[in-house]
Amino acid sequence: MILLNLIDVEIFYGQMEVIKKVSINVNKGELVSVIGANGAGKTTLIKAIMGLKDIKSGKIMFEGKDITKISAWERAGLGIGYIPEGRRVFGNLTVEENLKMGCYKVKDKNAVIRNIEKTYELFPRLAERKNQLAKTMSGGEQQMLAIGRALVLEPRLLLIDEISMGLMPIMVNTCFKIIKELNESGITILIVEQNANKVLKIANRGYVLDSGNVVLEDTAINLRENDVVQKAYLGS
Ligand code: ATP
Repeated sequence: MILLNLIDVEIFYGQMEVIKKVSINVNKGELVSVIGANGAGKTTLIKAIMGLKDIKSGKIMFEGKDITKISAWERAGLGIGYIPEGRRVFGNLTVEENLKMGCYKVKDKNAVIRNIEKTYELFPRLAERKNQLAKTMSGGEQQMLAIGRALVLEPRLLLIDEISMGLMPIMVNTCFKIIKELNESGITILIVEQNANKVLKIANRGYVLDSGNVVLEDTAINLRENDVVQKAYLGS
């Protein structure tokens, strides 16, 4: 069953077309990756799916519903979660306040408390530091907080933008392991990444984005063995 479906999506900044008739789909339960170099349009694409960037033409469907025109908040309410590039946590708020911020629009406060507890079980490091200001945490801990904040909303689809950016290699591995586990626990994931090597080891399928065009689409295994991908994105 298709959960997310982008049909011929075009996106502009002013006169510049940065996403060119892109069609992508993500099936329920999948972990799908969009890989591409700097400036390929990955962040723009993720923002558009979340409702943070308008599209010029095309359609975005979620669970069979056209969500192209609805706000980011409404999309979050439908079950779309978002982990932005660069770990945008609120530095002057504590860990717990950050987690609560993720769901301040949720009416059922007991559900919020339950979900925060679940997040603490998944990330004991956050539980130990619940009263610590986010800005005083390490980069890896802030990334866990950014993941945790998306999870308290119990997303059915999780959008992840460049999780490996600026992290030490050991933390990159931890983050990818967590993402794989989240996917295995039932969350469908769409992740955009420059680190093709790592992400294609955990993804089921992938798309290669080049200057706003999808130039390749295949299983992650086939993409890893593809000559073009190897030369351009896997550093061989
Ligand atoms: P990176 O891996 O470097 O983050 P990306 O693949 O995520 O790159 P985008 O950030 O989506 O790429 O940018 C795609 C193109 O759109 C780039 O040419 C970029 O300069 C341009 N762009 C991005 N944001 C804006 C903006 N707010 N105004 C004008 N142009 C923009």
